[in-house]
Amino acid sequence: MSWFKRDKQPDEKLPKLDNTARKVRTEGLWQKCEGCKQIIWKKDLESNWNVCAKCGAHSRIDAATRLKLLFDNAEYESLDAELRSSDPLGFIDSKPYGQRLDAMRKATGLNDAMISARGKLDGRPVHICSMEPRFIGGSMGSVVGEQIARAIERAIADRTPVIIVSASGGARMQEGAISLMQMAKISAALMKLDQERLPYISVLTDPTTGGVTASYAMLGDLNIAEPGALIGFAGPRVIEQTIRQKLPEGFQRSEFLLKHGMLDAVVPRLEMKAYISKALQFFMG
Ligand SMILES: [Zn+2]
Repeated sequence: MSWFKRDKQPDEKLPKLDNTARKVRTEGLWQKCEGCKQIIWKKDLESNWNVCAKCGAHSRIDAATRLKLLFDNAEYESLDAELRSSDPLGFIDSKPYGQRLDAMRKATGLNDAMISARGKLDGRPVHICSMEPRFIGGSMGSVVGEQIARAIERAIADRTPVIIVSASGGARMQEGAISLMQMAKISAALMKLDQERLPYISVLTDPTTGGVTASYAMLGDLNIAEPGALIGFAGPRVIEQTIRQKLPEGFQRSEFLLKHGMLDAVVPRLEMKAYISKALQFFMG
């Protein structure tokens, strides 16, 4: 028996590799690009609005950053920020919904998954509702519905266009049918906006799914998406199981939807403001 061969000791308790310290030191400094898989200095990525300079992949940005990108001089007035969900069902999943909301409020500094804002885009007064993907998956509940409905009513009063930037996992299950009701409520408000002949531009970003896709995200006078965004109603696994077919490559991504007539354009993030400005010029003169 060779003296350096070691008997197997299956029950031997090896000390667990502790990555905590390493994680703490590097967390927040580097980020892996989902496109080219390269590790990028986070500050470089952020200074380019989370668009990878190497491959052009778009990573998610939060609602406030989005508004800074779209409004002139990053200036805007935040509206209805005080609205809070009353947890009408007293819903409890892995934890009570009320606790979940509190944790999310702390983490994001927002009361719910949206910033409704008024400001100027290339000198033109506009209302922009920007969804916050970090707040319970950017889910749409009673607050998001109310914020959008009020934004539309203000837009009608101010005679301005409405832009909604979606980033959402869909309706918020913790509010059950009340969250589903928002689909009808917002759709009705958008019809009023249409009757007033004011344009609505829907910007779909990664991800836009479920009840949001099934209502306002697809109701724009223009529906435009960021490159590579996941856009769909049900998830691909559910669809595959239902239709018993393999889904094609790139299914539910912006480019695929554009090719199949579900979108009007795919617009890179850094060109989005100029694109919207031009579209509003076309709509409103
Ligand atoms: Zn990249």
